[in-house]
Amino acid sequence: IERTVFLEVSDLHVSYGQIAALRGVSLKVMTGETVCVVGPNGAGKSTLMAAIAGGVKAKRGAVTLAGQPILGNKPEEIAGRGMSLVPEGRQIFSSLTVAENLKLGGMLQGDASKARWMMGEMMDLFPILRERASYPAGRLSGGEQQMLAIARAIMTNPEIIMIDEPSLGLAPKIVDQVYEILAEIKARRGVTLLINEQSSARVLKHADRIYVLRGGQVQLCDDAANLQDGVAIKQAYFGFD
Ligand code: ATP
Repeated sequence: IERTVFLEVSDLHVSYGQIAALRGVSLKVMTGETVCVVGPNGAGKSTLMAAIAGGVKAKRGAVTLAGQPILGNKPEEIAGRGMSLVPEGRQIFSSLTVAENLKLGGMLQGDASKARWMMGEMMDLFPILRERASYPAGRLSGGEQQMLAIARAIMTNPEIIMIDEPSLGLAPKIVDQVYEILAEIKARRGVTLLINEQSSARVLKHADRIYVLRGGQVQLCDDAANLQDGVAIKQAYFGFD
């Protein structure tokens, strides 16, 4: 099948004062793909997602979504074009219930009956959220909170979801569960995924394509199928020559 470029980042530069966090990053995500960005602490992964979503300002570069330039637009404007970000630390509303958190996600897409239908779909997909629907979200476990954050992102009916380190702080079994659900969401809704991860083993298992980011630059980009022996990805990740 012919695939079209859905998200394109070109020569993106972002600095925090004197610190250059991104130094000329270019990346493409095709419609329906799962692309993982892997790299050590401080590589610039979170900054990349924040810049795409309009949360931090870029010094230079371009970002297009479905061919339309979005760099410099407001976060809510970018969200309105079908982009949803699940930030690190998840940012759920801990004093609201699970159901209320989901409803808030649904409100962003405007159509009340569709939102109700999607809430049912999310609770089928994440049975634990149905069980915990009337719990305050802050009382959920880390894995449950991650699932809620992802479910809430889907409730906005996005075409692309960016997830910043979905595995952070979760037990391996729960991480597998999260990825199984992401695969199920893709199968059902054809959503495009961009995921940040620190573990190269994990991205080798779940990505279609992989970017290794280190020191604010792309060190390597290839199909996951070509990287399975792990050698090239380790070299790029750690910077061995
Ligand atoms: P982590 O996995 O630790 O989140 P990361 O790959 O997501 O790492 P970033 O968080 O994007 O990396 O950080 C990239 C660089 O920018 C780092 O050197 C970091 O210290 C710096 N940085 C990030 N956020 C800020 C900020 N708000 N102010 C100043 N420097 C920042």
